[in-house]
Amino acid sequence: MNELIEKAKEFHTLTKGELVSLLADDGINEELFQAADSVRREFVGDEVHLRALIEFSNYCRCNCLYCGIRAENNLVERYRLEKSEILELAQHAAASRYKTIVLQSGEDFSFKADYLAEIVAGIKKLDVAVTLSIGERSYEEYKILKKSGADRFLLRIETTDKGLYEKMHPKASLENRKRCLYDLKELGFETGTGCLVGLPGQTLESLADDILFFKELDADMIGIGPLIPHPHTPLRDSECGNLTLALKVMALTRLLLPDINIPATTAMETLNSEGRIMALQAGANVVMPNVTAEDVRGKYEIYPNKAAVNYAELSKKLAQIERTISHKKGFRNHFVSPLTLAPSPVGRGKRFYLARHLRRNMTPQEIKFWNLVRNSKFMNIKFKRQYKIGKYIVDFVAIQKMLIIELDGGGHNTPEQQKYDEERTKYLMSRGFKILRFWNNDIDNNIDGVFETISLALRERN
Ligand code: SAH
Repeated sequence: MNELIEKAKEFHTLTKGELVSLLADDGINEELFQAADSVRREFVGDEVHLRALIEFSNYCRCNCLYCGIRAENNLVERYRLEKSEILELAQHAAASRYKTIVLQSGEDFSFKADYLAEIVAGIKKLDVAVTLSIGERSYEEYKILKKSGADRFLLRIETTDKGLYEKMHPKASLENRKRCLYDLKELGFETGTGCLVGLPGQTLESLADDILFFKELDADMIGIGPLIPHPHTPLRDSECGNLTLALKVMALTRLLLPDINIPATTAMETLNSEGRIMALQAGANVVMPNVTAEDVRGKYEIYPNKAAVNYAELSKKLAQIERTISHKKGFRNHFVSPLTLAPSPVGRGKRFYLARHLRRNMTPQEIKFWNLVRNSKFMNIKFKRQYKIGKYIVDFVAIQKMLIIELDGGGHNTPEQQKYDEERTKYLMSRGFKILRFWNNDIDNNIDGVFETISLALRERN
């Protein structure tokens, strides 16, 4: 198997350079899709979660260059559903055994947070999960929505390339988009994001950054869609996004975030009538059928010819690939990878992890060592400190080189302690790590020697 795919399959980590090389190489596609499929099966199983999508308003204050319902497109016939109409659609979906209702709209501020909160609370009575996809709002508004019972929120970052983001989204900023995502995470929403593939000027490097951003945010859901140019937008003459590339971005996302929910997106199905099934066999585990009433559905045209889900056809196709339809709410499994640190401590996050706690209590030797390696200062290698691997926490690790560095006080060891250390070492070595140990005394008195040893070990592990 391709070495990088193998690494990602086992350790769920890749560097930007590695991601780019996999995105650029079309010789590995089948292998990549198979690896993502097997990670999907291992972590989230064979069930496919259906989320019922209600598009309740196509009014939008934004002017995203690609989007058919952008404010300046005055060929759109605008509509807003009433609360009662939305509740009726939700009731119908719940009666059809959908376990999640997704409320999506343009950025329509006439739906104030309090009003939306009433709608959410009404839908929550149906014993379903509620997902919102209504765009950028303030922390306070998100808070009201969370309190009303909303479980999830979808807000694609679209692209992490700042220049491209700003070109595509007049008067919007990447910073605010990120602020929203971190706020949502902090408020306890299962947070979904994702990107468009095929924006004009987008590079493989920026797609790799997108994937790394999903990991940094520790997103709970990721939707990836190829761009489909809409004739009444400034991108009317752009090329369609490449479906294979979109599937690759999705598959790599599955490898790096093994336990999250990933939809086979409608845009993928729109480009290819088998797109959804292809996606479900390359890492995806969610489908989002549109349950908006037929009479308004056509007006929510973010791109043309949006594919519909035919339930009977879908269940037949799922049976053919040995997948079943879930009738559970399908929250994220939250597996903590043996190699990846638990969700990264970013923003105003409330989560605290043992590893973080330990970081605050470093010994003077650890502080000295850390100051010499932090920010990739040493040989341009990224070291992390107090890093969780399996059930163990190591002092320092260069993941890229699979090298662990431990500093030791050299105190007296009980037989139990020794046995524990042996097991720990055995486990870490079985995961492919090399471990170097130094005494505090070495750090104090022979720091040059310490770094010489480390540099030798790093070179060996090229
Ligand atoms: N206003 C909400 C919902 C946007 S529609 C929000 O901002 O989150 C959902 C997604 O459709 C968008 O995030 C975007 O990625 C995608 N989309 C919009 N126009 C598209 C197009 N022309 N082709 C493909 N996907 C598109």
